[in-house]
Amino acid sequence: MTISGHMLLGAEEVMGTSAQINAINPATGEKMAPDFGGGTQADVDKACNKAAKAFSSFRRLSNEKRAAFIDSCADNIMELGDELVERVMAETGLPQPRVVGERGRTVGQLKLFAQLIRDGNYLGARIDTAMPDREPLPRLDHRMQYIPLGPVAVFGASNFPLAFSVAGGDTAAAFAAGCPVIVKAHSSHPGTSELVGRALQKAVADHGLDEGVFSLVFGSGREVGSALVSHPAIKAVGFTGSEGGGTALMKLAAARPEPIPVYAEMSSINPVFLLPDALATRGAEIGSNLVASMMMGAGQFCTSPGLVIAMAGDGYDDFVASARDSIAEAAPQTMLSPTIHEAYQKGVEHLSSMSQLSQLSQGKEAQGCQCRAALFEVSASDFISNEDLREEVFGSCSLVVRCDNAEQMITVLNSLRGQLTGAIHATDAEDPELVDGLIEALELKVGRIIWNGFGTGVEVCHAMVHGGPYPATADGRSTSVGTAAIDRYMRPVCYQNMPNKYLPKSVDEENSLGICRLVNGEVVTN
Ligand code: NAP
Repeated sequence: MTISGHMLLGAEEVMGTSAQINAINPATGEKMAPDFGGGTQADVDKACNKAAKAFSSFRRLSNEKRAAFIDSCADNIMELGDELVERVMAETGLPQPRVVGERGRTVGQLKLFAQLIRDGNYLGARIDTAMPDREPLPRLDHRMQYIPLGPVAVFGASNFPLAFSVAGGDTAAAFAAGCPVIVKAHSSHPGTSELVGRALQKAVADHGLDEGVFSLVFGSGREVGSALVSHPAIKAVGFTGSEGGGTALMKLAAARPEPIPVYAEMSSINPVFLLPDALATRGAEIGSNLVASMMMGAGQFCTSPGLVIAMAGDGYDDFVASARDSIAEAAPQTMLSPTIHEAYQKGVEHLSSMSQLSQLSQGKEAQGCQCRAALFEVSASDFISNEDLREEVFGSCSLVVRCDNAEQMITVLNSLRGQLTGAIHATDAEDPELVDGLIEALELKVGRIIWNGFGTGVEVCHAMVHGGPYPATADGRSTSVGTAAIDRYMRPVCYQNMPNKYLPKSVDEENSLGICRLVNGEVVTN
């Protein structure tokens, strides 16, 4: 398939006329063809108006037809074959196994959402039947189901060019809910975005859907992205990126005449707690495992372990020595873009310049856009008194906070902002009061608590929570990974005293959809 540089506004191909965008191969520094034209306000208006029109029919599509469309999106992505894999590698510097793995995850999560909506239970049907004889007042019939919000704007992520970009988790969840999607492509992988966009556009056409179900626009976030979020047709936003970008979009969305939800996934340093007996019995093993996790994808995962809170004592030195050796041996990896590499370098330089920190280890000499891993150490009291140390350094960089007692560990935890994950490394012999205290405090800070593991390697499943209090995400009440993400793009509607013939099938008398419903407080399966 030829990559042309065109935006996809429904079925139309449009060459943008604002600023030109080119991908840069981060491994070579070369500018890649073709030129992509950035969109204008008029292009955004066109995509949004098409999406608004498409919403009416897309939301009424049967669960089976919408599921079949989502399955086709997945199949069409696979049909792109090696061309897609090679383009992703060239635009992001990611190695082939990672790209192939991420493609599998992307296709797998589309299929999982298709499967989720087939049985109809995602509609959350509830029925409270009328009680005409109730005293002192009769009760009317009430029935509730969830409906889609409307067109959703999705911002492609730099660090997941497939799984969190054009056909990523946000798009899959929004389609499953019944929402048309307009993607603002990430400017660092426009060719990947166009290829995947064309796969989705083809699925829309093959299933005879309204063309406005999917559009793809290019351009700067501040112009095209802001115009999208401000457009009255857009009813929700999905975003993965920086705290600055996500927070700017949250403010923009809140200031609209009709404010809308922004589901932004932003900054997280994912604290890892190393308890005394775990360190004493397997300090060295934890050290090498920590480094394996922080080196994954050159540390460009939102769940990368950027902070380790360890109890000084037996095994602490073994842990540090092992982590130091593992970092020194690890080969440097190319980062996603020159901008991200530059931000990483600045972050590490800042930590190196701080007198309270000591640098425990540095990776092998790196070149060009490669990430040179770094591990620092600081005392608990210096960490607590220095706000700067809670900032994410996006890449293979981690800070070890040395604690002298359990109280310091809890104080460090309480000083953190919201996080995606928190991990505890422990054995059965740890002080249960400390473990309970950590779990209780972590529940208030993170979306996922991990026992003897690390946050990297996020399973796409029904019970996954990939979210957390601000600034990990804009709204800690939801997840961006796993099927529960569908809830973000739906809202409940109650039908009171409605004749059966006008009721949606999910809550009708016959249970036409044959779904699981809460009837008068009891789960009824047919
Ligand atoms: P980004 O700069 O936030 O960009 C993400 C998307 O948002 C891009 O499409 C960008 O448009 C748009 N955007 C940015 N600021 C905006 C604003 N003020 N108004 C409207 N749209 C805006 O993130 P990035 O390029 O992916 O990476 C930059 C940094 O973000 C990284 O170095 C890292 O620190 C952080 N990051 C964190 C995570 C995480 O999961 N924790 C993931 C990715 C990145 P443009 O095309 O104009 O850039």
